Amino acid sequence: MLPREVIEATAAACLDFEGSGLSLMEISHRAKNFQPVVDKAVELVKELLDVPEGYSVIFLAGGASTEFCRVPYNFLEKKAAYLNTGTWAKKAMKEAKLFGEVVEVASSADDNYTYIPKGFAIPEDADYLHVTSNNTIFGTEMRYDLDSPVPLVADMSSDIFSRPVDVSKYNCIYAGAQKNVSMAGVNIVIVKEAALGKVSRQIPTMLDYATHVKSGSMFNTPPVVPIYCAMKNLEWMKKNGGVEAMAKRAEERADMLYAEIDRNKLFRGTVKEEDRSLMNICFVMNDEYKELEADFLQFATDRGMVGIKGHRSVGGFRASCYNAQTVEGVQALIQSMKDFEAQH
Ligand SMILES: *Cc1c(COP(=O)(O)O)cnc(C)c1O
Repeated sequence: MLPREVIEATAAACLDFEGSGLSLMEISHRAKNFQPVVDKAVELVKELLDVPEGYSVIFLAGGASTEFCRVPYNFLEKKAAYLNTGTWAKKAMKEAKLFGEVVEVASSADDNYTYIPKGFAIPEDADYLHVTSNNTIFGTEMRYDLDSPVPLVADMSSDIFSRPVDVSKYNCIYAGAQKNVSMAGVNIVIVKEAALGKVSRQIPTMLDYATHVKSGSMFNTPPVVPIYCAMKNLEWMKKNGGVEAMAKRAEERADMLYAEIDRNKLFRGTVKEEDRSLMNICFVMNDEYKELEADFLQFATDRGMVGIKGHRSVGGFRASCYNAQTVEGVQALIQSMKDFEAQH
């Protein structure tokens, strides 16, 4: 979900970019009036996340899945540590194994990824520890920045800009923008400059973060429209109180919905309470009401709840509550749950 005004601003720029008579889709990425868009987007990322000196913000294509490979290409010399918290973490590990030794420091696979492992040992000779801060499919989230003897790398695709982050603990933070920042087509990568250039292998130009740091995301044609949309949404976040306010809104929405899941006799949450995601709220029907699942999905869909079907690896329902989601939107879902309960 994106704020309506962000969608409208992007649509307007697609019709006429800043009174130029050209569409945002027609201009050169090197046009004089586009560079300020990239500059503004970088500045807003740095401001919102309080990014320290020595870090670069770059915009890349290829989806978060390409960062699964770019990360080890750039940072894994011998050994890397990975925390296995679900589907996306496993995909990241698979790519890393092409480049060196991968140590799985802990896994929650034993309980279908319904919790975040804690108290695991981190090898001090690892080049980095990779974590997935929010597990979009399973609805678990680490809303904290781990203390680690080695630098962190995080896939924050589905919770970036939903809370303040201590960027100084990370060598790299990446996010496919389509979940909480923009439309599909661009990744936001925050990279520590001093961590680059340390691996002995040769890195193909496009996969080398240094290429894009040096060129300010302008080495080749970047995804112009998604960057513009991201810039507009980052402006919206700033105007609405920044990531502290986004975190408060997320807590308010999630508290309401989890309270109803816990109260309602038909439903139960799937995730260990302390690890519940504020972004992707997963719940299923209690065993005795299992056969009503399809009916509830239809009932809620008829009332305008779109896309609440859970991922097939969890089943049930998943309410994604990204930054633009409103309290009213969540209240409407809660009302549907109450009304459906009253019928049964
Ligand atoms: C969606 C998602 C991805 C994959 O993103 P793509 O841009 O489709 O490659 C990776 N990690 C997480 C946490 C995700 O939610």
